[in-house]
Amino acid sequence: MRNFILNEKIKLRRKTLIELARATINNNLKKELPKLSKKILPGNEAKYRESIYQEREILNQRIKIYLGMDYEKSKDMEMYEVAENIDEILEKNSKYSNSSKILQIIEEACDVCPSNKYYVTDLCRNCIEHSCKSVCPKNAITIENSKAKIDLDKCIGCGLCARACSYYSIVKLERPCENSCELKAITKNPNGTPKIEEEKCVNCGSCYIACPFGAIESKLDLIKVLNRIKKDNKRSVIAIFAPSVAGQFGPKVTIGQIKNGLKRAGFNKAYEVALGADMVAEEESEYIENSNELVTTSCCPAFVDYIKKHQKDYIKNISPSDSPMIALAKKIKEEEDCEIVFIGPCIAKKNEDINREIVDYVITFEELGALFISCGVEPAEIEDVDYEGSFDGWNFAHSGGVAQAVINKLEGKEISCIKMDGLKESKELFSKLKNEKFDLMEGMACEGGCICGPGIMVNPNVANAVLKKIKK
Ligand code: SF4
Ligand code: SF4
Repeated sequence: MRNFILNEKIKLRRKTLIELARATINNNLKKELPKLSKKILPGNEAKYRESIYQEREILNQRIKIYLGMDYEKSKDMEMYEVAENIDEILEKNSKYSNSSKILQIIEEACDVCPSNKYYVTDLCRNCIEHSCKSVCPKNAITIENSKAKIDLDKCIGCGLCARACSYYSIVKLERPCENSCELKAITKNPNGTPKIEEEKCVNCGSCYIACPFGAIESKLDLIKVLNRIKKDNKRSVIAIFAPSVAGQFGPKVTIGQIKNGLKRAGFNKAYEVALGADMVAEEESEYIENSNELVTTSCCPAFVDYIKKHQKDYIKNISPSDSPMIALAKKIKEEEDCEIVFIGPCIAKKNEDINREIVDYVITFEELGALFISCGVEPAEIEDVDYEGSFDGWNFAHSGGVAQAVINKLEGKEISCIKMDGLKESKELFSKLKNEKFDLMEGMACEGGCICGPGIMVNPNVANAVLKKIKK
């Protein structure tokens, strides 16, 4: 399960989002944009890079992505140009965005980390054995200044030297982005920066979490949403929030307070996606009852994409049900002419309804945090209201919850289930399907489920504790 750490990278992203959101709410965005990076990174001292000017230049590239712009289309635009064109940039289907590209690599931010290379650390004691040198098949190790040295041009990355050293003094350096991708979807551009292979990538967000330099960002709708809710418009704007919202604003903030907070922030209405989860569990249980074939769950878009891109033989087994987000949004739009904003922990959701016909905008919990702050909403301090959705619907938030909800709907009918908890064991699990018969496969691309998604704000243990208290 994901170990959430509130690190400097996340703090910088939050600070930037809050500044952007405040400027939007105060109708100051156009004026503030050209100097925003200086406001966020003041002074003359660089904190993370060679110079403060480089840091601000990288921050400006981030700001453009946070405004919903595509990196390739906007990388050469100066901030004053961005400010001049801000109205057009914030249009729903702006020409500056790219509807299908969720993950954006900021080349200027990438440190071009070494990959699959071995290094000798200061732990080397220049022992008598020199087993590292003896074992190397390419004679890449010499002893210089009483220390082993690896010739990186000769090294083939076999790792025999690291295993031979009794002091563990040789370490392997891997690229955090490449290493995090279970689907080997990250290769290299000729200049060494990473390249995401679209035909393999499922937008799980692991690389976005893993890059310590924040060089991989995700497209954002937050500023577009704020721009939309502060304008008078005949069409209402409705927020729908994922079950994993539980605990996102701390263990003491109730789901009812978050729901009420959304209305205070300016949404016309707010609904629980747990209601959509109940609809989906009902549909999937009926489908299983009437079918002899394996059914794979529909709620995780990265899992559905994984089957479409990596396990094509099972495309026919994907549940015919909509995801809970789509099921609920469709129902709301049948009854009301409105725009819908989905709020969740997921980056892959930004790609689920790619043409934004059913769900108009997708924001993460982190974006919601910035939205609340900019609107002066403190969920902990506002009145609690009731919320809807069954215990089973809310339990879609963590691994095992979807399968359990379907089993509970079947009321006693025995079914065999297999669960994919994270992409790590995906291949093994799918090969198991060739030899064993299962009725239901629950799939979650994030290990632990949605409470561990890339857009969360708290440690998943907090979310789990709050979910346990949901009314049965
Ligand atoms: S981990 Fe980040 S900084 Fe390192 S190569 Fe990958 S994208 Fe670049
Ligand atoms: S989003 Fe996931 S699948 Fe895509 S490149 Fe990153 S780690 Fe790989």
